[in-house]
Amino acid sequence: MYTKELAQAGVVIYRIKGASGMKPHLCVRFRDEDGIIRDFAVDTSRTPGKVQPDAYLITHAHSDHFGKSTMNSEKAWCSYETAKALEIRYEKEFCGNRFVTGSTVSIEGTRVRTIPVYHTPGSCAFMWENDVGTKILVTGDVKCAADLPKCDVLITEASYGDPDDPSCHFSEDIRLFEEIVSENAGRTKIAFGAYDFGKAQKAVSLLREIGYDGPIFMSEKTAELTKCFVENCGDLETVSLTDRRKNDGEDLLIVPPPSLSYLPSSYRRFVLTCRRDYPYPNIRMSDHLDADGLSSMVDDCDPELTVVYHPNKGSRPDRFAAHLRQKGHEAMSLSQIRNIFNVHDAGKWLKAAEELSI
Ligand SMILES: [Zn+2]
Ligand SMILES: [Zn+2]
Repeated sequence: MYTKELAQAGVVIYRIKGASGMKPHLCVRFRDEDGIIRDFAVDTSRTPGKVQPDAYLITHAHSDHFGKSTMNSEKAWCSYETAKALEIRYEKEFCGNRFVTGSTVSIEGTRVRTIPVYHTPGSCAFMWENDVGTKILVTGDVKCAADLPKCDVLITEASYGDPDDPSCHFSEDIRLFEEIVSENAGRTKIAFGAYDFGKAQKAVSLLREIGYDGPIFMSEKTAELTKCFVENCGDLETVSLTDRRKNDGEDLLIVPPPSLSYLPSSYRRFVLTCRRDYPYPNIRMSDHLDADGLSSMVDDCDPELTVVYHPNKGSRPDRFAAHLRQKGHEAMSLSQIRNIFNVHDAGKWLKAAEELSI
């Protein structure tokens, strides 16, 4: 689908199949402004062996973007914050290259613009212009699209992109969070479910903005990430869930949502999410755009073609692409990419550009 249109714009989008199945997400090939053919792997896992892309781009440090695997490669590229978060989360060294989000970097001599998307600390989009002037933009997960420029080929996400699913439409409820904190903090035991990277830091920032200045309890790793990314994080105390069971004083705890069920019933429990599938009351807070936000982002970027590449599983990319087509945009999803190369078939992989008349 759209292979010919992409080739006319000087772009090949392909996927790699390894021994254990299809690698996540995709790769982008084009001739750069100097006419040199480049291959950029986006949010995928590392390919073993000699055939390597020019770069593994990591949009941010969430596990479904596969930085854990590519951070072992000298060809990995991500922001300083993403590299730091990967190092803390996976307790190993980031072997690749770092940049300041918002800067333009030279990757093997090809100019790549990086643009903040405000999804996690250090999350960013990547943009290139190829030899025929096609602007290619890869977003990763997006919370705020205000800085994203217009482009010709948009490669984007649909984490909450199904317009027919009510859970993909939401607005945040920070006021409720403030009310719950001021009613309970310092009086009773309260636990907020928030994942350790992204949401937990947002919760701590908000708690301090609201004026809560007591200790906030969390796991060692969450505390390390929070100290690294929240400037005025205040008193963070590390604690294990086993200790919490014995505790009978007041408490304010941040734990990953699945851990809420391990706490004693004396805790008032809330999940900081716009999802509706947790068995606890939720306070609507999201680090994503909802379906309407994603749709407006595509309108604003005004591409000739949109490729919905994330999440790697499930039907939301298909559904969001179908929605865009209904609105009159040209759009396809990950499952419609027909250029699939076997990881061991280096000859075919390298020849692909000529076959597709790039
Ligand atoms: Zn993410
Ligand atoms: Zn994601």
